[in-house]
Amino acid sequence: MGGASVTANGGIQVDLEGKRYVLDPHSHVRADYTFVSHAHIDHMHPPSKNERVIASSVTGELARARGYDLGETTEAVEGVELLDSGHILGSRAIRIADEVYYTGDASGRTRAFLGKCRTRQARVLVMETTYGAPEYVFPPTAKLVKEVNSLIASAYDRGNPVILMGYPLGKAQLLSYFFSSWEPLFYHEKVAAMNRVHIDHGVPLKRGAAFDPSKDMDSLPRGPWLMISPMASGRGKIMSHLKKKYGAVVVAFSGWALGKGYRFTMGADYSFPLSDHCDYQELVSLVKAVSPEMVYTVHGFAAEFAQDLKRLGFSARPLAAYQSSLPDFDV
Ligand SMILES: [Zn+2]
Repeated sequence: MGGASVTANGGIQVDLEGKRYVLDPHSHVRADYTFVSHAHIDHMHPPSKNERVIASSVTGELARARGYDLGETTEAVEGVELLDSGHILGSRAIRIADEVYYTGDASGRTRAFLGKCRTRQARVLVMETTYGAPEYVFPPTAKLVKEVNSLIASAYDRGNPVILMGYPLGKAQLLSYFFSSWEPLFYHEKVAAMNRVHIDHGVPLKRGAAFDPSKDMDSLPRGPWLMISPMASGRGKIMSHLKKKYGAVVVAFSGWALGKGYRFTMGADYSFPLSDHCDYQELVSLVKAVSPEMVYTVHGFAAEFAQDLKRLGFSARPLAAYQSSLPDFDV
């Protein structure tokens, strides 16, 4: 056993024992197997005939609910193991034989209905390094939830509504889980659609009134309410209107909130570092758990994190041709 080659070719291409696997391709690449780690849109493309797509059934379902058809997906391929990566509902890491372990997008901590990334030893590790810089260490989730609840309480005391923003698949369901005890409760229609798939899979999310910005902008109640919304600029048309007309307080949630200037960039009143990715320390722990001979890093601080791993005694380099260019690519 041994000798897998890992290259970037529209996706992460793994050649092992005469089989070609392409992991999270941005577009169609010829392969024996295509792996789709989760249902964020940068990984979605329609499969061609004869393409065998490895993905969890929940990922297939979430993709369909977002208008993307992955075709027939399978979780059972000989020599391949899928492991919960803890990023969003249905997200998986993949281990091909005992050669290659690829994290996909992964979280290093349990939160609400999501577990943390499960690891296995492998000779080659391909890992996401979105937050692979030492300044990105996230606070405990319980502490953050407490702070947000006191922020909402003081806005309610003043009579102001609060809008919590996060990307519509994953973050918005965590926000729904943590903060839906506040009433009246509104879900942006895009959030409501993703919540429904979660409820079908047994995630206990409270139902709320749907908000359609094309017709409900002027029919919200006066006084405090809570809305969970996809990420949008606080200076954009919708948020500006809700701030002006109702006095809404806009709160953004992203790991990037640890960086200076994030709140201003988003035009938000407040921002909190709630993330669905590993922070720096969790990335280091993940590498130690997999105990690889070689590490390839993708996304975010890929070059910087590979340097840090070398200092820790690992062989590591960025898979440079496979990078996301946008800071908030989880959509
Ligand atoms: Zn993602």
